[in-house]
Amino acid sequence: MSITTVGVVGAGTMGNGIAQACAVCGIPVVMVDINDAAVQRGLATVSGSLDRLVKKDKLSAADKDAALARIRGSTHYADLSAAQLVIEAATESEPLKIKILGQLDEMLPDETIVATNTSSISITKLAAATKRPDRFIGMHFFNPVPMMALVEIIRGLQTSDATHDAVRALALALGKTPVTVKNAPGFVVNRILVPMINEAFFVLAEGLATPEDIDAGMKLGCNHPIGPLALADMIGLDVCLAVMNVYVDEYNDSKYRPCPLLKEMVAAGWLGRKTGRGVYRY
Ligand code: NAD
Repeated sequence: MSITTVGVVGAGTMGNGIAQACAVCGIPVVMVDINDAAVQRGLATVSGSLDRLVKKDKLSAADKDAALARIRGSTHYADLSAAQLVIEAATESEPLKIKILGQLDEMLPDETIVATNTSSISITKLAAATKRPDRFIGMHFFNPVPMMALVEIIRGLQTSDATHDAVRALALALGKTPVTVKNAPGFVVNRILVPMINEAFFVLAEGLATPEDIDAGMKLGCNHPIGPLALADMIGLDVCLAVMNVYVDEYNDSKYRPCPLLKEMVAAGWLGRKTGRGVYRY
């Protein structure tokens, strides 16, 4: 199936980023959120982000206007029925996502593909909650979507080859590099990334080096653009801890034991940049 219009559920950080990425590549988008204020916030974020590209001479003013005109904001799921693919990018909550998927099942034609941008919920489980398990897939974009090249495409146990191929073709049309992975907690990137961050907290807790030196080691020794502790501050220490706890529950393997120092800092409310203090002070 070729995808000529994309629907996006959720106009937040990821939803408006996905809408922007599609619109800039010439694909019309319908972006739905729960109220008009949320929709307008999403549209304003896209407009501001495109303005910055115009200022940097990466986009012409005419192309900016054309891209914005391709995004239709709405508070009605019925408006999504024009799309061949609807990407769910609403708040990360399993009951909420299952409710949204049920509403989409009622509204959308049978052949419409539904993808979810979830970072942690099982694709196989969400697929089983829909009436279209073979036409359901994970499409995990990275933040900020317009800048980040990767899309993890996660096949649930039920996902058909046709669904996978259509979504992969769209990712390529967006100029992204898709990697196809099987469904498992953390998928691939976060499965490797978050335990690495957790290990950096163990190294810090054992007093092996200062935070600055741990980060410098990983930047200069491994060519990472940012050290693991500075990255934890960006992601949020609470988010890192929550992800480790998912691995503990799902894999039941002690290698995912969250570092006590990470737990202690979360208990103190030192969650990173968003609270002004994490490993570093902001
Ligand atoms: P966000 O809080 O910025 O935005 C979520 C949006 O969903 C809000 O605008 C909210 O009003 C809307 N929403 C809530 N209920 C809705 C409903 N019933 N119908 C329509 N819209 C609804 O969250 P986000 O960071 O954009 O995350 C969205 C999804 O993307 C989550 O599943 C998250 O795990 C995933 N994700 C986030 C990141 C990230 O770095 N932020 C990265 C990858 C994946």
